[in-house]
Amino acid sequence: MSSTEHPTATPPSHVVQDARRALEVCNACRYCEGFCAVFPAMELHRDFSNADLSHLANLCHNCKDCYYACQYAPPHEFGINVPKAMAELRHASYAQYAWPRGLSGAFQRNGLITALAMSGGIALVLLLTLLLQNPARLFGILPVAPGAGFYLIIPKAVMTLTALAAGLYALLALALGFRNFWKDAGTTRVSGADIHQALKDAASLRYLGGGGHGCNDENGAFSNRRRYLHHLMAYGFLLCFAATCVGAVYDLLLGYPAPYPPSSLPVLLGIAGGAGIVTGCAGLLWLKMAGDQDPQSRNLLGADTGLLLLLLMIALTGLLLLALRSTSAQGIVLCIHLGLVLGFFLTMPYSKFVHGLYRFGALVRHAADQRRHG
Ligand code: SF4
Ligand code: SF4
Repeated sequence: MSSTEHPTATPPSHVVQDARRALEVCNACRYCEGFCAVFPAMELHRDFSNADLSHLANLCHNCKDCYYACQYAPPHEFGINVPKAMAELRHASYAQYAWPRGLSGAFQRNGLITALAMSGGIALVLLLTLLLQNPARLFGILPVAPGAGFYLIIPKAVMTLTALAAGLYALLALALGFRNFWKDAGTTRVSGADIHQALKDAASLRYLGGGGHGCNDENGAFSNRRRYLHHLMAYGFLLCFAATCVGAVYDLLLGYPAPYPPSSLPVLLGIAGGAGIVTGCAGLLWLKMAGDQDPQSRNLLGADTGLLLLLLMIALTGLLLLALRSTSAQGIVLCIHLGLVLGFFLTMPYSKFVHGLYRFGALVRHAADQRRHG
């Protein structure tokens, strides 16, 4: 084991062997070297440590271009399937770096874990509400006015402390998981220019652009659909996060708690963000199910779709909550929405959400490696 390899956890050996074999063939062939960042990064190596393989797997954007271009892809006897090998290794790396180590198994049954988190979060919020409040408030019509509304359904202390505890835990687990990933990659010197380049590549999803013509989203035909849908989902998520931050400032600093009028900044940000998430997640789910399954790993279907479904449900219930204000359904929809958000926070460090962090780390290392090697 090299000094940079992780001391306790390693991905399954057959997953590592498949990825190593595919990349060794690619390193001799090099036909796809202009497709994405993986191939130039691969060409810096004569052989691949587990840490190198993990870095390359997280650099792959799963665009599938190299599958449809490959003369050695199935049914050729070599059976080279780089997107599938990279996806399986990437998923194994999430478990490898997870913090705490004891919860890394959550990645293996991610679909089931997400379903349990969704139903458990809803059940917990409903139970707390029924125990701590007058049950009539859950089904009553509440006033939409400053100082009233949501805290009449769920007490302020319960809502704030639960969100704070779950959010801080998620941040801690994500940060320590990323630290494991970064240490294992053995990246040493990184400049501001490397981080800037990585930010640009991540924000534009450069490697899903295929140099302008797009990628093989569904099959051998090129399109930019996946790139645009991913943009809608990711920027929608950021808008919803901004809406939550503005709402927190209104509430905690200005003493002006939710719900806010439809023309207020938190609501406008939330509507735009929610629409982006719904469109992006629904489109990505459709692409996942309708696309050619050969370059995909069936074993990862639950993990790939679990996070998309959870985000879709959170956005839909958020928009529904806005539509059902001042009705007797407001209380129950609020509990379902907050239960899903709680489930999201608790599963965030053990779901595909981590791919954003690890891919960004891989892009930073790639920028640093390319700068050093000219
Ligand atoms: S994916 Fe196939 S064509 Fe592309 S570099 Fe690898 S072996 Fe060559
Ligand atoms: S699937 Fe796309 S991003 Fe991944 S190695 Fe192949 S060409 Fe590169």
